[in-house]
Amino acid sequence: MESKGKDPGCLRDSQVADVVYQIIRDGVALADANHRIVEVTQAFRDITGYDDAELVGRSPLMLGSPHNDPGQFQSLEESLHLTGCWQGEVLNRRKNGEEYAALLRIQARYGPEHELLGYVAVLTDIHVLKHVQEQLAYLDSYDGLTGLPNRRMLGDGLHQAVERARRDNRLLGVVYLDLDGFKAINDHYGHATGDTLLVMIAQSLRELVDGDGLVARMGGDEFALVLEGLNNMDELESMARRILVMAGSSFDIDGHKHHLSASLGVTIFPMDGADPETLLRHADQAMYQAKQAGRNRFHLFDARQDQLALSRRQMRERMLDGLINGEFELFYQPKVNLRSGVVIGAEGLLRWRHPERGLLLPGEFLPPVEHDDLIIDIGEWVIRTALAQIRTWRTLGLELSISVNIAARQLQRPDFIDCMERCLADFPDTPDGRLELEILESAALENTAHVRQVISTCQRLGVGFALDDFGTGYASLSYLRDIPADVLKIDQCFVRDVLDDSDDLTLIDGIISLANAFRRIVVAEGVETPEQGVLLMRLGCDIAQGYGIARPMPASAMPDWVAGYKPDPQWSLWADTPWEMADFPLLVAQYDHIKWVKQIALYVEGGNLQMSDHEIVDHHQCRFGHWYYSHGNLRYGHLVAFRQLEDIHARVHRVGSEIVGLRAVNRQDDARHALATLLGLKDEVLLRLANLQKAVVASAAPPLLGGTPR
Ligand code: C2E
Ligand code: MG
Ligand code: MG
Repeated sequence: MESKGKDPGCLRDSQVADVVYQIIRDGVALADANHRIVEVTQAFRDITGYDDAELVGRSPLMLGSPHNDPGQFQSLEESLHLTGCWQGEVLNRRKNGEEYAALLRIQARYGPEHELLGYVAVLTDIHVLKHVQEQLAYLDSYDGLTGLPNRRMLGDGLHQAVERARRDNRLLGVVYLDLDGFKAINDHYGHATGDTLLVMIAQSLRELVDGDGLVARMGGDEFALVLEGLNNMDELESMARRILVMAGSSFDIDGHKHHLSASLGVTIFPMDGADPETLLRHADQAMYQAKQAGRNRFHLFDARQDQLALSRRQMRERMLDGLINGEFELFYQPKVNLRSGVVIGAEGLLRWRHPERGLLLPGEFLPPVEHDDLIIDIGEWVIRTALAQIRTWRTLGLELSISVNIAARQLQRPDFIDCMERCLADFPDTPDGRLELEILESAALENTAHVRQVISTCQRLGVGFALDDFGTGYASLSYLRDIPADVLKIDQCFVRDVLDDSDDLTLIDGIISLANAFRRIVVAEGVETPEQGVLLMRLGCDIAQGYGIARPMPASAMPDWVAGYKPDPQWSLWADTPWEMADFPLLVAQYDHIKWVKQIALYVEGGNLQMSDHEIVDHHQCRFGHWYYSHGNLRYGHLVAFRQLEDIHARVHRVGSEIVGLRAVNRQDDARHALATLLGLKDEVLLRLANLQKAVVASAAPPLLGGTPR
């Protein structure tokens, strides 16, 4: 399928087809009337692994897996015979033997006399989508980190356990557990340590329960236990004590001992005769009281002293006053196009300037009212504030779109569209597409038919929709097809570890492929480092938001920020280069080096050292060194810019070891002095790495058709 036309500026049809064949990732094959392959596109060769010589003249049956259902082939033949077309999912086998799921569409071609000329087949490789679907289905019921059932699965389990307890006249204990001081460990030692700790605790809880119940992770550092087979209250109390002792034991991670404690809330059925959801809420409330009473203890739910309910009521009243008194405010976090460097809009994030408690984040005040009508008043205020802000910025010449978060409860209201129409009517000059609503995946799932209609109507009114925290909810392929949201926001938990964790990389790659397959825009949240941005662009996600670009700020700060915004130089360096995934470790090397130096700096200032002696002393043993002497050397060993890194990196380790030695004998001032030298060396390493990157970019081929390289 070669290009033939020569008219400048005017693509003839055949040329258009050629360009289309080059850029789509679906494989196309032409076959004659006898089902013999005549011609295929490059994408077809890429997917199947065969070249022209192996394909042309052969039957397409050679591409199928022997595991395909023979009945399917028969139905394909019949359908082609009767209707001239067929489409369906098939299992194929590549030349290298690997099996993959594919979508196959076949269309017969007829001549002027309606004689059969042959067939066109379009082959779409969907094995990545399948993988993501499986992963998402798993995340639907299980917590990805600990492998424990998640909140949703616990709900099902608790229902059944209550039924059993009722039927057999037995006791049932529900325990809600929240770790004390976990956030400090996470902040101080990093998420990796926090995650390991959660996995260890999950495992210990599982062992304690030992088949007589269910342990689930409710999110963050919260767990819930459903305990069956209890004979009396004493057994429940003794179990609660054993959990406290377990949580209070020391956890050894990378040679460092961590200490925690837990606060437990306990309730028991049938003394607490509530329904399953309420039992869990009572246990949660009791846990809160255990915290209030000084942590590291358990509290038995007592309906008469339901203090928390009272304090929540007070909180609600205080919030309503706050809303009326103008104590609420929207902060804005910019969203940028990494590739073009353009600021495209901002997300409006709610803040409460509490007169006594200071500036509060949504997590500190929204949860208690999420199921209360107050959230609807707040939501309307947020929408109106955003519309007013769009207008104000426009008068300053700032054309930015704003997205705001909408609670599930508000979206599910039958009069939501009326509310939207009233708001828009008060701001008639708002250009279409300027306002976008963000909803959580889980919120959209609750009543799909209604949500679908709300989204479509809003789109007609010029208001866009984004699915927030995408990847953490219950998304499935069919669900994505049903919900016509314009944008998918990849949850920050995937972005956060993408440089360290290849599973997250696969997942993000899958989500972006999904989004592309369904023609949705993808936005990445939580981009904290330039390297994450480069990787996202490479995977096909150009729009990002995160602390690495800007933190949320008051509306008044945005114009100056936009005026002064300069994209990270790495983004423009890599944006137009079709760099190979094989060059990705070069980016990570830079990130690893920065992280290594940061650890030493933290240690000087009193933090704990999270590296082994080898990693500090031996410049072959740190993550940067591993890369340099293996993959890096193989790929770039011939480049001068690469070889110039070796001696300076060795010096970094000499100075780093010296600092650690000084700090260990408490020579703090000397350690700080040497640290200044280390920071200078770090800058030099980064400069030389940048030179190497430039050399690599310069040697890469020019971009194909100016499109996004994948
Ligand atoms: P979200 O909609 O997913 O918003 C993103 C949150 O991540 C924000 O937290 C933002 O400050 C934070 N974030 C952004 N970039 C980074 C990063 O690079 N690293 C890290 N670690 N965090 C980052 P915030 O403002 O605390 O909001 C939390 C959540 O509260 C929001 O999550 C949203 O679900 C909810 N929320 C915020 N404003 C409203 C509102 O007006 N109405 C409703 N119903 N919910 C809101
Ligand atoms: Mg959001
Ligand atoms: Mg989000």
